[in-house]
Amino acid sequence: MNIIKGTIMILIKNANLFNGTDEKLIQNVNVVIEDNIVIKITKDAVDESTFDKVIDANGHTVMPGLIDAHVHITLSEAPHILDTMTTEEIAIRSAKVAEGMLMRGFTSVRDVAGNTTGLKVSIDNGYATGPRIFPSQAAISQTSGHSDYRQNRGQKRFNNHEDSPLMKTGAFTIADGRAEVLKAVREQLFMGASQIKIMAGGGASSIFDPLDTLQYTLDELKAAVEAASDYGTYVAAHIHTTEAMKRAAEAGIMSFEHATIMDEDIAQTIKDKGIFVIPSYFTSSLIAERKIPLGSEVLYQKTERVGKAMLRSAELIKKYEIENICYGTDCVGSLNVHATQSSELEAIEKVFNSLTALKMVTSNCGRLFELSTYQHPYQEGKIGQLVEGAYADLLIIDGNPLEGVACVVNPETQKVIMKDGVFYKNVF
Ligand SMILES: [Zn+2]
Repeated sequence: MNIIKGTIMILIKNANLFNGTDEKLIQNVNVVIEDNIVIKITKDAVDESTFDKVIDANGHTVMPGLIDAHVHITLSEAPHILDTMTTEEIAIRSAKVAEGMLMRGFTSVRDVAGNTTGLKVSIDNGYATGPRIFPSQAAISQTSGHSDYRQNRGQKRFNNHEDSPLMKTGAFTIADGRAEVLKAVREQLFMGASQIKIMAGGGASSIFDPLDTLQYTLDELKAAVEAASDYGTYVAAHIHTTEAMKRAAEAGIMSFEHATIMDEDIAQTIKDKGIFVIPSYFTSSLIAERKIPLGSEVLYQKTERVGKAMLRSAELIKKYEIENICYGTDCVGSLNVHATQSSELEAIEKVFNSLTALKMVTSNCGRLFELSTYQHPYQEGKIGQLVEGAYADLLIIDGNPLEGVACVVNPETQKVIMKDGVFYKNVF
């Protein structure tokens, strides 16, 4: 953090604490914040006169800021529309999308395809408003893979099958074979990626790659994992089918995005290896109900299959007691789509329960991000838990989230949003 500030002491008193992990609120605590770090949480009386600011939470709940582990800040339109925009237009739209996330209470996000390092640094240095960003930089895909967005076979006639304008912004890149995959991973690390995103199987919303395709050979996947782990970090894979997940698990991939179509064997493997799973129940249900406009009947059929399968896989997540599950919305598109970012929390609550939903949107994401080790961009404090030594990323909520998560995302009951010790909303 390069913002120069003197020591500012903030006290939040009379709060009930959800710490990000426990099934019960800790009643009536005082939270002491020094600059951007929570330095003390105590039931003992605190001398208020030493503080620059005192907030009386009046029995409301204080909890960690929300975390979304699967966002695409720069993909604020469909790829073919982004192709028509200047880089500046995409950047300005991205800043607006990021600001919206913070103002919904999301204090950290992991971007999994997009050139977001510049925005991340600008936010960290106070030139833009938004959450902490864990950038993946370009998602890496094989030729004819999920993010081969050249998407125009007609160009082939003119021997001009080059990257699309969107790909040239650094949102996606193509690499084939061990050598190119190693280089593509290292390129993203050079650009500031805190983790690597690859496309390890077919997609639901893409035109040219059927859902059941296996993308990348085992050796190519291993190459990606090697280059990432040599840099202390991990690979997240876009992945839908059981076959693709089996190959990715063997390669050592630790974050399965979507993980839609599971069988019992892969559920057991995910549990045994401690692989993180990032499902998106709200988006899936919208897709399954055909509420998101798609280009063709084929796309509707693909996405319906995905939407229904994800709910069946949730039963396996419960059966095998997979605890490494994280909140990820996969919001792609305009501000209208991003406005639904919080809806996933209630969708998860319906599939699991309130505590699981709350852990998924706080501490579980914090644990996932720790897989970045020294590539983790925010090492001064803990993220996703409200404990001593954590960053002062927190919300104050009118209500008990453990009795129903609606109060967490309702702007009326979300009273305070603080990130890095700074108030972005305070209606006390
Ligand atoms: Zn995605």
